[in-house]
Amino acid sequence: MNWQLKNIRHDFDVAEGDVGVTVRLGRKWANRCTGHIVGVDLWECDKPHEGPCPLVEKIREDGEVIAEVTHCKYRGKAKVIGVWYGELHRLPPALLALEHEKSSRTLDGLRKSLKRGYGREIGDDEEVTAVIYYRTEVAD
Ligand SMILES: [Zn+2]
Repeated sequence: MNWQLKNIRHDFDVAEGDVGVTVRLGRKWANRCTGHIVGVDLWECDKPHEGPCPLVEKIREDGEVIAEVTHCKYRGKAKVIGVWYGELHRLPPALLALEHEKSSRTLDGLRKSLKRGYGREIGDDEEVTAVIYYRTEVAD
C-alpha cells in the first residue's frame, strides 16, 4: 500500500518523470523511507488532516443531497528515492532548489509554506525531513 503524501494549499510543481523535494516537520517521513523505496499517492487539500477529508461539500437538488464533494484532490503517484534529515537552516541548497512548490525554493518562501501547512512558525533549528521523490504519474 502507498503512503499518502499530502500538500496543504499548494499543488505539486513537478512534471511526470522529474524529481521534486518536499520538506516535512519532524522525522516521520525519514523513518518511513529509510532503506527501501516507498511509493506515495499525491494529494492536495485546503486543510491538514489524516484519514477521510473533513471538508465535505453537499451538493443539493430540490433540497436533497445528490452528491458529496471533498476538497482532497488526487494528484498522481511518486516514488520516494531518498530522504535528508536535519535542522531546517541546514537544508542543502541543492535540495531547496528542487522544492516541489515553486514559491518554496528560497528559505524564506519555504518558511511561509511550512507555516501555512503546520499552522505555526517553524524555527530554523527545528528538525525537518526533506523527502526526495521521482514523480511517476500526474493525475488530471
Ligand atoms: Zn482533505
